[in-house]
Amino acid sequence: MIESLTPEQVATIDKMHIWHPYSSLLNPIPAYQVVSASGVHLKLSDGRSLIDGTSSWWSAIHGYNHPILNKALVSQMNKVSHVMFGGITHEPAAQLCKKLVDITPIGLEKVFLSDSGSVSVEVALKMALQYWSSQGRHEKSQFLSFKKGYHGDTLGAMSVCDPINGMHSLFSDVLAKQIFAESPPCSFDDTWEDFFISDVRSKLQKNNKTIAAVIIEPVMQAAGGLNFYSPRYLTELRQLCNDFDVLLIVDEIATGFGRTGRLFACEWSEISPDILCVGKALTGGYMTLAATLCTVKVSDGICRGGAGVFMHGPTYMGNPLACSVANASIDLLLTSDWQSSVSKINAQLMEQLSELTGYAAVKDVRCLGAVGVVEMLNKIDIGKIQKEFISEGIWIRPFDTRIYVMPPYNISSDDLTRLTSGIVRVVHRFF
Ligand code: PMP
Repeated sequence: MIESLTPEQVATIDKMHIWHPYSSLLNPIPAYQVVSASGVHLKLSDGRSLIDGTSSWWSAIHGYNHPILNKALVSQMNKVSHVMFGGITHEPAAQLCKKLVDITPIGLEKVFLSDSGSVSVEVALKMALQYWSSQGRHEKSQFLSFKKGYHGDTLGAMSVCDPINGMHSLFSDVLAKQIFAESPPCSFDDTWEDFFISDVRSKLQKNNKTIAAVIIEPVMQAAGGLNFYSPRYLTELRQLCNDFDVLLIVDEIATGFGRTGRLFACEWSEISPDILCVGKALTGGYMTLAATLCTVKVSDGICRGGAGVFMHGPTYMGNPLACSVANASIDLLLTSDWQSSVSKINAQLMEQLSELTGYAAVKDVRCLGAVGVVEMLNKIDIGKIQKEFISEGIWIRPFDTRIYVMPPYNISSDDLTRLTSGIVRVVHRFF
């Protein structure tokens, strides 16, 4: 039997041995210990309870400890928890891939399962490269990406993240050299002006012979700043990709499964990409799983090439536990009235966060779907402000100059008010 640890022992081991995301081991900031979670509440080892405003980095859209998701996992565990995917298939994967084909934009018919968002981006980039090299177009080996974009932390994904403001400028010497367009210079509601797309157009005009694909986060650039842009931008971009014979990769890892108010953010502009990445909320925050979908044009192109196969195959590909909880999460979403939950969250966020509009230290307040952002003028001391949020009984994790909420869709109006009023009070106290 595994002996349990006291909270103090956990804290000691954590401090001595555990590397947390984007953290230093020389001067580690103590991590908050979660002992259980239910609905939108996280319970800490000291007995405090916090309302989660982040859905665990935007994944737990149904909240924690959901009976339907729990049941799906337990029932799958009693059949088979994992089996290799090379030469073997199973019902949870078949159900999931069919579901994804049915609910994602039209034309995406082939699904490659993987373990995390970053890996699904690597897969997307490799699909695009293999598609062109299969046709002897080896010179098409670069990607056009966007400033303020974010696509993950692995080497290929890092190469298409914002080259300066992103988290990866440190590695710039070893990353593949990509082409970067200005981030979309329009807000979500802006009336369309042709110049919004002119930078991308001129970069495609000049470099289309070497560009394999354009990669973009649809409608919301997430970790690069939580900036929302006009859906028309995507429509124009789709057309430009057609005109210049480059593939379009859309990264819906942050936006997929309803977060922006559409099931997939591509739906705001009714476009279909050639390749699509999903992750995060795919399993309702239960298991790590992602998927890369592509069109038959892309899959046929790859498989007709010299290699005859797509060159990728993770050990945990198609993990049955992850697939079964993803199936349950998608069914739960689609059988709920998630649109009205998201639009109620949106209306409440707009009303309650707008109290900070015009406050001297605040640059901007904006909301889209179930995303609310308070952008400060100056960089935030995350360690310090986090303590203030905890004292308010809320879990908010700002980055750079952004304080934001992306709550589970089943959050009650009272709990959402506690999140927004906590943010308003902390901003007043702290800045
Ligand atoms: N793409 C986007 C748009 C993301 O927001 C993220 C994660 N924040 C990723 C890719 C990487 O996903 P993961 O952290 O699961 O590797």
